[in-house]
Amino acid sequence: MVTGVVYSTFCLMAKLFTSLGLGAIVSLAEYFFVLAGGLVLHAAVTYSAMLKVFSGLSPFVFLRKMEDAIMFAFSTASSNATIPVSMETTTRRMGADNKIASFTIPLGATINMDGTAMMQGVATIFIAQAFNVDLTMMDYLTVILTATLASIGTAGVPGVGLVMLAMVLKQVGLPLEGIALIMGVDRLLDMIRTAVNITGDCAVTCIVAKSEGALDENRFYDMHAADEDEKIIFKPSAQR
Ligand code: ASP
Repeated sequence: MVTGVVYSTFCLMAKLFTSLGLGAIVSLAEYFFVLAGGLVLHAAVTYSAMLKVFSGLSPFVFLRKMEDAIMFAFSTASSNATIPVSMETTTRRMGADNKIASFTIPLGATINMDGTAMMQGVATIFIAQAFNVDLTMMDYLTVILTATLASIGTAGVPGVGLVMLAMVLKQVGLPLEGIALIMGVDRLLDMIRTAVNITGDCAVTCIVAKSEGALDENRFYDMHAADEDEKIIFKPSAQR
């Protein structure tokens, strides 16, 4: 079944690119690198600046402790599946109070999808250029608004951002077939944007916890916090 889908997607893409020419592959590569670069920059710069300005916490410590959650989000491409790991990271490794994290993390995993909004914006411009459609200033503002709304409506599971892109395309009168152009590279971009989405949730959790006096800073700066929790003891309990 999966092999069938892979073959049929490959055949559809091969047909598309033979009719569009090699230039289409180059623009697709450009789309991929622009979006991937933007996403990495957003996670590293915007969240770090937010964390520093609003809470005074160290972005380096934060990003170092995010490693596990980022890897998990990257491999599952699902914000919702990453909720338990984000909860563990923010409470046990970063010292945020459970009463803050248990509210902000599930809420963020449901509605806070900056990575998805970025993808929808960049993808809309890419599709407009691929179909030679000139977007006006008003169209750009519509794209910003609808991409933000569509990302809020996107479920935290793999690939839904691409489905919600249809809403943005329709709003500015672009053909929905454009989605097929980016489908082939979307899985990898989905993995990256999911990592960005959950990094935002965890950054905001730390900021809110700090502002509420519910963040244990000693734990935040302890690079070995919760290390013991990670160790798995393989002996049966009777032998311990
Ligand atoms: N996979 C993304 C997430 O779970 C949603 C998407 O953009 O498709 O955050």
